[in-house]
Amino acid sequence: MKKTIAAVSFSLIALSGCNQTTDKQQLIVGTNATFPPFEYVGGASGSDIIGFDIDLAKQIAADAGKELVVKDMKFDSLIVALNAGKIDMIAAGMTITPERQKSVAFSAPYYEATQVVITQADYHGISTSTDLTGKKVAVQLGSTGDGMATELGSHVAAFNTGFEAVMELSNGKVDAVLFDSQPASNLIAKKPQLQLHTMEFEPEYYGFAVAKDNAELVAQINTTLQTMQSNGSYTTLLNTYMK
Ligand code: GLN
Repeated sequence: MKKTIAAVSFSLIALSGCNQTTDKQQLIVGTNATFPPFEYVGGASGSDIIGFDIDLAKQIAADAGKELVVKDMKFDSLIVALNAGKIDMIAAGMTITPERQKSVAFSAPYYEATQVVITQADYHGISTSTDLTGKKVAVQLGSTGDGMATELGSHVAAFNTGFEAVMELSNGKVDAVLFDSQPASNLIAKKPQLQLHTMEFEPEYYGFAVAKDNAELVAQINTTLQTMQSNGSYTTLLNTYMK
């Protein structure tokens, strides 16, 4: 235990030396709060940003002895904000991809996800991923679903949020939505006219992203994740948020 504390305070000292424009007492986390149950607007006030990622970020900040500050922005702007020093970390259900690893560093993976397809319940034109070729598919701009639909040769309509993509489907403007499984089932929960289809998509792994030169913060995040996994609090969070 002592060892862990020593390691954390050592990395805090190292971190304070290279922290760019942000306040040293704060951990500034960027998110896009339209991705339930990972990050969304709700809580007691109805206007708090809450969710699985936010609770993990709270623990990461607490372990670092910092105040958590959450900044809500477009998903597409998160990596730009990180590399401009406006935020210290991205907590946004962000999939670890080789492309993103060129510009940011990721923590250890903390959640396994996959893409799913949403269609109108009475639509039967898509039963495998390759059926998306040539179809009108709505996605979230800059997401892995966006990249996959593009690669599959869909006619892609990209929106700032998954919510808007689902609206487009509800309005009959597209054939399908390609989106991450948990948020997808959340978004269609009260829409019996829509149906979720699981297909043979590869697993994706979410990680917290930090600036490439911030190895200290990666180490801190990983220490917190490991501790939460071994003391059961990670499982408690899963049970709280994943239905
Ligand atoms: N996991 C997907 C991605 O990383 C979607 C994330 C999101 O929309 N918040 O692209």
